[in-house]
Amino acid sequence: MKITDIKIQIINIPLTTTFKTALRSVDQIENIVITITTDTDLVGFGGAAPTAVITGETTASICGAIEHIRDNLVGMNLTESENIFQRLNNCIIGNSSAKAAVDMAIYDLLAKKLNVPLFQLLGGMINPLETDITVSLDTQEKMISESKEKLNGGFNILKIKVGGDPGLDIKRLQTIREAIGSEALIRIDANQGWNAKEAVQVGEELECKGVDIELMEQPVPAHDFEGLRYVRENVSMPVYADESIFSPHDALTLVSMNAVDGLNIKLMKCGGIYNALKIVAIAETAGIPCMIGSMMESHISVAAAAHLAASRTVIKRYDLDAPLFCSFNPAVGGISYQGSKVCFSDAPGLGIESIG
Ligand code: MG
Repeated sequence: MKITDIKIQIINIPLTTTFKTALRSVDQIENIVITITTDTDLVGFGGAAPTAVITGETTASICGAIEHIRDNLVGMNLTESENIFQRLNNCIIGNSSAKAAVDMAIYDLLAKKLNVPLFQLLGGMINPLETDITVSLDTQEKMISESKEKLNGGFNILKIKVGGDPGLDIKRLQTIREAIGSEALIRIDANQGWNAKEAVQVGEELECKGVDIELMEQPVPAHDFEGLRYVRENVSMPVYADESIFSPHDALTLVSMNAVDGLNIKLMKCGGIYNALKIVAIAETAGIPCMIGSMMESHISVAAAAHLAASRTVIKRYDLDAPLFCSFNPAVGGISYQGSKVCFSDAPGLGIESIG
């Protein structure tokens, strides 16, 4: 089965509510959707989300990189997928989201060729997926009402965005915890918004006040691996890296520095499933768990993350709520949601029949 073309489409999806973090505020997302055609009737689907403030990629840069990748991959045979993944990763430096879109479409095709869902090709349905739900950074009152609303909507795990003024963040979290009671899990994500000392101050005060937090994600700037280690050594709650870990190399460095308790894998950062599996192997060998997350992506690319998450033992936490913010699903078939549960179809590959 040979690759004959990679077609690119841009889809605009308004969000149902504004998504706000320490880094950005978004009302609408632009997703790049690709279709890989072959010399058979099988096609592979993939998607990418431009997140300039995290990966450095824009819609135009992703489209340009995919065109370059297409010129390198057309004519290659799916019977030698290792060669395809090597060329995909080596024909252009960086451009992780563009690579992720192509990578997941290749995996979609590999699973379709075997007529099995992708999770089965990757290891089977090992983990039922319960996603957390994001509470955007906002005023204390709004964050409390949003937290309550999400829990009433059937979610059990809140991912609360912080990373502003540390004193205010502590107050926000304390009042949210008081308002929602002790049952729901709260994981916090500072999106690089603190320095290491501020993060330790927040962690210590929350622990001192008895505000139960499951984990702290990316407290410090992405480049500050030493800062991550400092925070990890000085607070009790687990510290996860997100913006600090793009590649398997980053994973290896963070793990060998003992800088983190866990890794948040996103296909848009690591360039797709091929590289994500290497990160998974590093984490598993080091004895630390992974979370799987996404950028503000639609159901198409989140499906690939979900298939991977379901199939690997060491991926223990799921932050796959981005499609729930989308006002529509651009895919026919694929993943769906029942409250906080991510559901799969039995169809082969990603399960996507067409793009709507
Ligand atoms: Mg994060």
